[in-house]
Amino acid sequence: MATSGIAVVRTVAGLREAVGGWRAKGERIGLVPTMGALHQGHLALIATARGQCARVVASLFVNPKQFGPREDFAGYPRDEAADLAKFREGAVDLVFAPPVEEMYPPGFASNIRIAGISESLEGAHRLGHFDGVATVVAKLLLQCLPDAAYFGEKDYQQLMVVRRLVRDLDIPVRIEGVATVREPDGLALSSRNVYLSPEERRVAPQLHQVLNEIAAVLRERPDAVASALAGGSAALERAGFAVNYLELRDAASLAPISRLAGPARLLAAAHLGHTRLIDNVPVGTSQSL
Ligand code: AMP
Repeated sequence: MATSGIAVVRTVAGLREAVGGWRAKGERIGLVPTMGALHQGHLALIATARGQCARVVASLFVNPKQFGPREDFAGYPRDEAADLAKFREGAVDLVFAPPVEEMYPPGFASNIRIAGISESLEGAHRLGHFDGVATVVAKLLLQCLPDAAYFGEKDYQQLMVVRRLVRDLDIPVRIEGVATVREPDGLALSSRNVYLSPEERRVAPQLHQVLNEIAAVLRERPDAVASALAGGSAALERAGFAVNYLELRDAASLAPISRLAGPARLLAAAHLGHTRLIDNVPVGTSQSL
């Protein structure tokens, strides 16, 4: 059970046994779902959970259901020993690292689809992605039954989809959003940044810069949404990005908005070579959730 000094369980039964003991003692439990390839962004989620909970459980599971057929599931960076060392560094109490058959045994037939909020933006470009996310997150929440679960604003739409999921299904877990951790030049940390060539890595921070520039324009000119987005998109294409989307959305419902009137979020996805980058920034009155 102990690997590199940290407790690891690979079965739902093992997870429930450990967590049940803590719950019986009245200890607050936090869950941090991850797909591994850990970086400081994941460690920020763990640190937030640590600050709010007596016990922190992290899951380590590369979820096949959230990858499309032409996406990088097989090649997704995996290094369990390095991840366990980082979990230990973050003082995680327990790692849940199930094999695929534990999560999706033969005969598994359920799929959670969340209409509306999961259909545009990432959902439109990665068909089925949020079904996979909602299904695995529902399973992880029900397997662990933590008091709170921690998700990064880096994947802002995912955070909103998970909030919808727990509301719709009455899952009694508090969902906490954690601000995006960035490199000093502004690039959002991501497990996929390792795919960038040195030249692409030099260009990549412009995604965040352009989002910030658009946000600044909109604060001055709330009506200039269409022109600011078109200008930003053109700037990204000139820099070498192939833009999937660059949109301003209501911060909570993710409904499209054409005029800045309240809390909003600018969200973008773009390819740089073969690597797909996503980022988002708050615009308007509420800076964070
Ligand atoms: P992943 O392992 O990519 O599925 O991410 C696991 C969790 O870490 C998700 O809730 C992500 O939103 C979060 N995360 C990933 N990158 C960052 C980042 N740069 N800052 C904050 N959270 C992040």
